[in-house]
Order: sequence, then structure tokens, then C-alpha cells
Amino acid sequence: MSAVQSVSGERKSAPQQSYDVVVVGAGFGGMYMLHRLRGLGLTARVYEQGDGVGGTWYWNRYPGARCDVESMQYSYSFSDELQQEWDWSERYAPQPEILKYANHVADRFDLRRDIQFSTRVERAAFDEAIDRWSVTTSDGMTVTAQFVVLATGCLSNARMPDIQGLSSFKGQVYHTGNWPHEPVDFTGLRVGVIGTGSSAIQSIPVIAAQAKHVTVFQRTANFSIPARNAPMTAEERQAFRKNYPEVRRVAREVARNGIYTDLPDRGALDDADNVRGARYEARWQRGGLTFMSAYNNLGLDKAANDTAADFVRAKIAEIVRDPETAQLLQPNTHPIGTKRICIDTDYFASFNRPNVTLVDIRANPIEEIVPHGVRSGGKDHEIDALVLATGFDAMTGSVAKIDIRGRNGVTLNQKWAEGPKTLLGLMTAGFPNLFIITGPGSPSVLSNMIVSIEQHVDWIADCLAYMRGHGLDTMEATQDAEEKWVAHVNEVAHTTLYPQANSWYMGANIPGKPRIFMPYIGGVGVYRQICNDVAAKGYEGFAVVGKERPRKAVAS
Ligand SMILES: Cc1cc2nc3c(=O)[nH]c(=O)nc-3n(C[C@H](O)[C@H](O)[C@H](O)COP(=O)(O)OP(=O)(O)OC[C@H]3O[C@@H](n4cnc5c(N)ncnc54)[C@H](O)[C@@H]3O)c2cc1C
Repeated sequence: MSAVQSVSGERKSAPQQSYDVVVVGAGFGGMYMLHRLRGLGLTARVYEQGDGVGGTWYWNRYPGARCDVESMQYSYSFSDELQQEWDWSERYAPQPEILKYANHVADRFDLRRDIQFSTRVERAAFDEAIDRWSVTTSDGMTVTAQFVVLATGCLSNARMPDIQGLSSFKGQVYHTGNWPHEPVDFTGLRVGVIGTGSSAIQSIPVIAAQAKHVTVFQRTANFSIPARNAPMTAEERQAFRKNYPEVRRVAREVARNGIYTDLPDRGALDDADNVRGARYEARWQRGGLTFMSAYNNLGLDKAANDTAADFVRAKIAEIVRDPETAQLLQPNTHPIGTKRICIDTDYFASFNRPNVTLVDIRANPIEEIVPHGVRSGGKDHEIDALVLATGFDAMTGSVAKIDIRGRNGVTLNQKWAEGPKTLLGLMTAGFPNLFIITGPGSPSVLSNMIVSIEQHVDWIADCLAYMRGHGLDTMEATQDAEEKWVAHVNEVAHTTLYPQANSWYMGANIPGKPRIFMPYIGGVGVYRQICNDVAAKGYEGFAVVGKERPRKAVAS
């Protein structure tokens, strides 16, 4: 049992094991947080419900899973040695390689000794008498901590669809977000895939190459751009590494989405049709998410957006041979990019295979799952194995599963009943010393998330160092500043086309979830500057409280 010592230096007595900081989750967020806390000389305990590190890349082991931000950018930047020594094998690394990378980071920075695996955080309650959190875990233990950091992930709570008869299904059922650790062999099987979001789009071509037949149940067609994935040559890696200072600077400070790319200062309607078509074609051939950066107004102006959407719809019509299938695959319910845009390898071409069938469940909704199939529009589709690619209760789902109690015993779920409210996506009023990494109200899922994770972790670490340096005990968002930030997040969202889509950014994929645009869309560079300014002004908008104490030196 360790002594209890607050960050401000005061010693208090408590019966339980105690830490300066409890971190929930050991994905990229929790791992880097632990590394920074160690650097500050703080004691920390990380709890992770999985039995290994990596978060997203630990759970999402479905066939074809890979990142959609290029690996040379979808990787930590906090250690130059790390980014210089790690060799990514492909432009977009597959899941096993990203998981290997996470494990390499855990070993290289000796993180495991402070991570307790296979342990869920069930409850966290703030004790106002001693200004400490009491954290209860699935092994029945309770520890205390001055601070709690939720590194629980935005896309970590797999959403099980509520379809009648699902439990009666006789074959195996898989969720892409909670895939078995052993390889799944679909050889000779008729596979049903429900959902056509990013995970489905990545997995369908791979499953189709193995299975006897794949039936894809589509409610909403999605835009997808070819990844143009390829092995990385040593020369390509080297060129990137040499340019890392600039790549990382632009990703952090300039780009809206945390991805280094050339950013044109032109709108789509500034170019003549043939010039615009050539520009889209070049981006299509290059592949990847930067298709959406072809012009600076695709997320803002519907007429501009339509030109990009039409281009992609025409590509789908070109690739898919059966005109009826092609039409069904052409998205027309939302502007391009306002739902997470997908990156694929041969997704649309998969529908030219004789063993792939598309079922339109918008026109013919799934009525029920029967023991050997899926009934939709009065027809039974015979299925031996079912893949649920139904996504996540995004951004708030994993936080909501923890019983978090702040001041006056108010739970976070009560406070967020009408949608999440935060200041900067980092803290929420009434919950002192509770930080969220990439929380709602920050750019998070609209960005290269490792850029956003590193920014949040650094901000939190600097904040803790500040608190220690100034003899402060608690910090929390003020109600007033929080309300202004929530209003600002909404205001910015509504200057764009994003709220026009029924997306998981809005909580629209979860029945009963309040419709509110959760991420901050102002761009990671702008957002970073706002966060830096808040810190420079002594954490403006946050109430920081401490008893008079001598300053303590802090490592940074
Ligand atoms: C298939 C897929 C592909 C993606 N590709 C990209 C990409 O290319 N680029 C990009 O920027 N982003 C991508 N993302 C987003 C991805 O989630 C982030 O990039 C990043 O991995 C998130 O890291 P994290 O640590 O914040 O959260 P996570 O990786 O989700 O880790 C959170 C961890 O917290 C644990 N946890 C949650 N609740 C508890 C609890 N109560 N107790 C204990 N442990 C708990 C979870 O088990 C999980 O391991 C992708 C997401 C998915 C699902």
C-alpha cells in the first residue's frame, strides 16, 4: 500500500491503494498518457479490460482491418527514435502490424508494469471531503486517485443491433469490433454481412475471396475512395522520415484533420469542369482520405460537395457491372464526407463477383433473423455465418458504461442525458480532476486520431505539472465556460454540411441517443491554439483550487 500524496504535496491518510492518477484504457491514448505521467514523476495505474494493449487494434481483428490514415502519419510522434526506427511495411498497415507496433511501444517504454489487464473500471466516485476519486474495478478492488483520465476510446463500445431473432441464429455470429483472436475460416460458408460502414467495406472483399457466398445487407450506401495500398519501399520510408519535422508540424498546427497533405486554396466551383474532373481523377488515382482535400470547400458548400459526390458516384457506376447494383451502391442520402468517408481495396469491384449479393434493407428491412438465415422483404436469405459490421456507440458509449459520480453524487449519464457537454472535450463541469482524452467537443474522430490523442495527453500532462507547480488540488470546467464551448461547437458544426447526415457523429446510429454533433469541427490546428491559449491564461474557463503551498519542482 503506497502513501497517499496529492499532486500539490499534501499527505492524507486513506486505507486503499492510492495513486496520483488512474487511467482507464490502454489504447494509444492510455499508453502515451502513462508515459507522460511517469515523466512527471507521478504514480499511475492503468486499467484495461482487454488482456493486451492497443485498444482499437486489439479488438478489431476482422479480415481486412487496417488504418485509413497512412501509417507513416498514423503513428506516434512523441519519440523521434521511435518514428525513425519503426518500419511500416505498407502504406496502410494491417491490424496485426498496428497491434505489433502498440506492443513494441509498450515494451520499449516499459509500460506494462503499471497496466492491469483484464480489468474493467466499473465505477468512479468523487469524494468531495478529500478531493479524491474512488475507483472500483471488476476484480472487486477499490483504489483512490487524485485524478482520473478516461482513455476509453471513441470507437470502443461495439454496437449490437437489436434485431428480432438474433439469438435463434444457429451459425456463428461475429461483431467486427469484437473479433475472435483465432483466425475465422469462412471457406465453404454462406456469410451474411449486416452494415456497410468502414469495417464492412474493408472486410467484404476479403471475406468474399474465401467464402462460398456473401450476402451484404445495406441500409445506407457509403462513399468510399480506393486506398491504393501498396508495400512501402525503404526509399519512401526514408523520404518521409527525413521530412518528419515538417510533416508533423503541418499535421498538428495547420491541417484541419491532422493529416499532412497539400491544401489548395481553391473552391471546387472556382475551376472549370474539365480542370475539376482532372483534379478529382488525380486524387482518386492517388487514393486515400485526402480526396476530400481536393478543394477547400467540399465540407462547406453543397454545390461544391455535389461535384465530388457526382464524381464518386460515376466511378461506382463505372466499376460495378450490374446497373441495378451500381445504383444501390451509389450514396445519395448525405453529402460526401459528412459521414466518415471509407477507404477500400476492391470494395465496389467485389459486387462483380458471382458469389456476392447486395440486399437493400432500406427498401426491404430485415424482419428477423431466423435459425438459418436473414428474413428481409418477406424473403429468407440462407446464411451459415453472420458478420455484424454495425459499428459503435461512438464517443460516449464506453464512458456511459462506467458509473461515474461527480459532485453531489450526480452521475455523468444524468449530466449528459441530453447529449455530452464538455469544455474543450477535456473536462466536464461538476466532475473535478476527471479528464477525457479525445472527448466529445474535441476534433477526435474527425482527425488523424493519434495527432489528437498526443495533443490531449500533452495538454493534460502540462496541466498536472502546472497544478503541482502552483500547489493546486482540484481543477474543473466552469459551467459558464462549458456552456459557451458547447454552443461554439454547435455553431461551427452548423456552418458545415456535416449535420445534414444521419451519422454516428450525431449519435444517429443509436436509437434514443440525443442528436447532437459531438466532435469539434473547427480543425485540429485551430483547436490546438485554443487549448494552448486557455493554458497560457492560467487555465481560463476552469476553476482551479488549492490551499497555499510551496511550489514543487516538476519534471516536464
Ligand atoms: C476499425 C477501426 C479503424 C480505425 N482506423 C483509424 C485510422 O486509420 N486513423 C485514425 O485516426 N483513427 C482510426 N480509428 C479510430 C481509433 O479508435 C483511434 O485511432 C485510436 O486507436 C483510439 O485510441 P484510444 O486509446 O483513444 O482508444 P481505443 O483504442 O478505443 O482504446 C480504449 C481502450 O479502453 C478500454 N476501455 C474502455 N472502457 C474501459 C473500462 N471501463 N475499463 C477498462 N478498460 C476500458 C478498451 O478496452 C480499449 O482497449 C479506427 C477505429 C476503428 C474501430
